[in-house]
Amino acid sequence: MTAVIMKSNYREIGKMLDFAREYRFDLVKLYYIHGTRAAGENIFLEEDPAAMEYLCEMMPFFKKKAADYGLVLDSRLPVPGIKKYRKNGKKQLLCHRPWQSISIDYWGNVWPDVFCWDDGWKSERMPGAGNVFKSSIGQIWNGKGMQEYRRRIVQRECRGICNPECLSGLIPEKTRKLNV
Ligand code: SF4
Repeated sequence: MTAVIMKSNYREIGKMLDFAREYRFDLVKLYYIHGTRAAGENIFLEEDPAAMEYLCEMMPFFKKKAADYGLVLDSRLPVPGIKKYRKNGKKQLLCHRPWQSISIDYWGNVWPDVFCWDDGWKSERMPGAGNVFKSSIGQIWNGKGMQEYRRRIVQRECRGICNPECLSGLIPEKTRKLNV
């Protein structure tokens, strides 16, 4: 069972666990809401202080409750706080996806990952790396668009090409980098 956590339901996580036990789910995944179209619902993008405090305080309780119920609780919530892409004071690559994967949408547009085409901050679509109805996957993988993603990430010039939720650190490192 996957629950998307937002302002209107973040205080209901305990009840979600009760629901999962009652209906014999094995796993509860807590996922954070994306984008800004639902006004005020994204408590993670700008770190709603009351919500962050509540989640920080309650997460250990939810973990214990899930364990007592025999449930696996897989929390993808960026709590406490938004993780930045720095480790030990050193800057690291924001993302490895342009070297690891591609994602294709319904219209054949290609990005390194599904997060790259999120409407994001201002409901703007990011430019993408090609289209499978116009070029082969191999051509796109080695083409200008993917090269541009790689160059901009290495040179830390990601604004305008990357999802603002990635730039803010809201999309967790383990999602932006496979095998981290
Ligand atoms: S940082 Fe986000 S938007 Fe940029 S390439 Fe990686 S997954 Fe895509």
